[in-house]
Amino acid sequence: MSDASKSLRLYNTLTRTKADFVPIDARNVRMYVCGPTVYDFAHIGNARPAIVFDVLFRLLRHFYGEAHVTYVRNITDVDDKINARALRDFGGDIAAGKLSLNEAIRRVTEKTADQYHRDVATLGCLEPTVEPRATEFVEPRADGKADMITLIQSLIGRGHAYVAAGEVLFDTASMPAYGQLSKRNLDEQQAGARVAVDAHKKSPGDFVLWKLSSPEEPGWNSPWGRGRPGWHIECSAMSAAYLGDVFDIHGGGLDLIFPHHENEIAQSRCAHGTDVMANVWMHNGFLQVEGQKMSKSVGNFYSIHELLETDTFGGRKWPGEVLRLAMLMTHYREPIDFSVRKLEEAENTLRKWKRAADLASAAAGQVPAEVVAALSDDLATYAAFQQLTQLASEAIEFNENGENAAAASLKAALAFLGFDVGAAKVDEAAIGEAIAKRLKFIAAKNWAEADRIRDELLAQGVQLKDGKDPVTGERVTTWEVKR
Ligand SMILES: [Zn+2]
Repeated sequence: MSDASKSLRLYNTLTRTKADFVPIDARNVRMYVCGPTVYDFAHIGNARPAIVFDVLFRLLRHFYGEAHVTYVRNITDVDDKINARALRDFGGDIAAGKLSLNEAIRRVTEKTADQYHRDVATLGCLEPTVEPRATEFVEPRADGKADMITLIQSLIGRGHAYVAAGEVLFDTASMPAYGQLSKRNLDEQQAGARVAVDAHKKSPGDFVLWKLSSPEEPGWNSPWGRGRPGWHIECSAMSAAYLGDVFDIHGGGLDLIFPHHENEIAQSRCAHGTDVMANVWMHNGFLQVEGQKMSKSVGNFYSIHELLETDTFGGRKWPGEVLRLAMLMTHYREPIDFSVRKLEEAENTLRKWKRAADLASAAAGQVPAEVVAALSDDLATYAAFQQLTQLASEAIEFNENGENAAAASLKAALAFLGFDVGAAKVDEAAIGEAIAKRLKFIAAKNWAEADRIRDELLAQGVQLKDGKDPVTGERVTTWEVKR
């Protein structure tokens, strides 16, 4: 574990400046990123925060140690879009009494969450440390972790929320600092509001913390009747549950700054009486497809799954790591234009890098300091990739005996950035010899030596499989390269 506080710089939406990152506790660096609402396949715009914050997660782990970074990414499994999807897909079964609404909702959310997990794993993303589901944080919990109902109660108790017309609303006027993140001024908003103020709201910007559910809608019992939470309160509850009242980094897409993140900040700060919710707020830019805003009506709306598994985008399937590189070729704060040409460029680049990395011996090198330094400047992935291209040229030009250090560094950098560098080249003859030797040891019942050979091969990425020849009944050992 090394202290990176001097060299890691991050752009903070809260201050609109880039500054040195100083963790609250270097032994537990804490990051929260808003995750998917699981009612349908995740679209490629959703892939961007997953990939961007995965790179940051890897970088933080590199600096502070794997055991010293906590990354929480939630799953939103309570949302009116989910109810609508459950009714659309299972309405008949519900009407026939075969399925309850809650069971139908669970089917929708579990299937969609599974798909999301497969998608982001294919994109080379590590699993977050914790992945809480909103529905598990609505009511007070047996383990005493933060929950939405208790948070809403403390907001009412502290004079920051009120009950009106069956809703609990956050009173924006009760928080002078409201609007700090989005730089929106409440008075301007009110003066400019063209929509008539809902009669029950004190101010037009007041937002829902809790609303009542009809019998056909999912609901939880609460002091304000059977209902369900508003959208924003879940992230205040789940971040507090795992990261505390104040934590280091909060991330998400640019579109979440207002109202979602602004309202998360209002809820958390007012419920806990703190000056900040998270010290650093990071936002990735928008994503367009072939120069146009992605929309179902334009016909350029693509799910991650479609790009990975179908030929609807550019007439072919795309490997996850090509999508990953294409996404990272643009700096995370810039808007990105996702196109077939960009994917082709990423694929060519990746092929060159991998060919060069293959020149390394089995031993992996150290992640080059230049690559870490580039990423440490607010995730300047493009600068890091220039280093990779430089290393690739050096690796290919290398024509001396001994270790190809550039290739080894390149390989380590690719693995660090989440690209599959595959197994080392294998010497089939040597493996054959080792297997024959192991079989002799087994015949002699020298299990220790036999196991030693098996373990040595495994360390090189070669996994042995023992079986029996179906005709002779003799022991046969096959092998495969494990990735
Ligand atoms: Zn959120």
